[in-house]
Amino acid sequence: MFSMPDLPTAYPLRDLFDAAARGRNVRLTCSRCGHGSVFGSRALWWLFRRKGWVDTFREVRRRCLCIMCLHRLGVKVRNPEFELVDEPPTDTSLPGPSELDWKRELRRR
Ligand SMILES: [Zn+2]
Repeated sequence: MFSMPDLPTAYPLRDLFDAAARGRNVRLTCSRCGHGSVFGSRALWWLFRRKGWVDTFREVRRRCLCIMCLHRLGVKVRNPEFELVDEPPTDTSLPGPSELDWKRELRRR
């Protein structure tokens, strides 16, 4: 006999696809001015996918530029704080993938 302990999934979320597949959204908060937005992870993943960018959380932070700091202060502030949340998106300006594109990607993985 073998013991099968009920361990938590040893599979940490690592990229936008993981977050989208689990239904978590992404909150980015500027470390300088505190401006924050919640993005739908599926729409954010689709943006990175279309641009051909690597979609690990690390890369997402590296690419994000705070618009408030840029407009008000003229400085480029990157690396916002990154959190996975269960709240609905506050920024819905990004288009998401079509149901077909999403299902195709789910099958591909
Ligand atoms: Zn800012």
